[in-house]
Amino acid sequence: MEKEYVVIGLGRFGGSIVRELNVLDMDVMAIDSSEARVNEYSDIATHAVVADTTDEAVMKSLGIRNFDHVIVAIGENIQASTLTTLILKELGVKKVTAKAQNDYHAKILNKIGADTVVHPERDMGRRIAHNVASASVLDYLELADEHSIVEIKATEEMAGKSIIELDIRAQFGISIIAVKRGKDIIVAPDPEINIELADILIMIGHDNDINRFEKKIVRPSER
Ligand code: ATP
Repeated sequence: MEKEYVVIGLGRFGGSIVRELNVLDMDVMAIDSSEARVNEYSDIATHAVVADTTDEAVMKSLGIRNFDHVIVAIGENIQASTLTTLILKELGVKKVTAKAQNDYHAKILNKIGADTVVHPERDMGRRIAHNVASASVLDYLELADEHSIVEIKATEEMAGKSIIELDIRAQFGISIIAVKRGKDIIVAPDPEINIELADILIMIGHDNDINRFEKKIVRPSER
């Protein structure tokens, strides 16, 4: 059976989730208290509904507990976001993903039972900071639990050396999980392969180790 999703809050963030789920051919109910916002999504979502999601009776009448996954994309109004999340969990929705505006908001959402809390603005800010701090860092993707994936251009010092010779795992506790070479992606590369200057290395590690690696290895070679 197809999964069914609900997106609550049709700002830029919630709206882009609805559009993408539609592209992926998923059933999605889009809810907002603003009629104008709901009208924008009436042709994109499977159902588009005007409702105040802080009203438990309204949520019950929508049969919200029968949906597989509800995404709370209300940001600015922290009270509406937390109350909506609380009602969803109390009604027994299995999976609730909520957008946090700041760390304090995230803490409350976790406490009241949100299954996943996302910080799109903070995460995008961090990705851009890593990218502007070093032209060699192409992307930075934060995972849960202080670990991240970073994509870097091979430096001149790395070129011609094998992964074993680079010794990054022993020195920094970071693993190279894939190498992008032209159009190819070498997943779980053989440690004997030699890195080429045009390679892009995809690495995973603890945030502190990645920061240490960026400071010591990636940035000095840019000078
Ligand atoms: P974004 O940053 O994603 O662009 P935004 O700044 O437009 O969002 P937010 O305050 O984050 O606005 O709210 C997103 C949407 O949530 C708005 O369209 C708002 O009408 C809706 N919303 C706020 N409170 C409720 C509520 N109680 N019930 C339903 N929808 C709500």
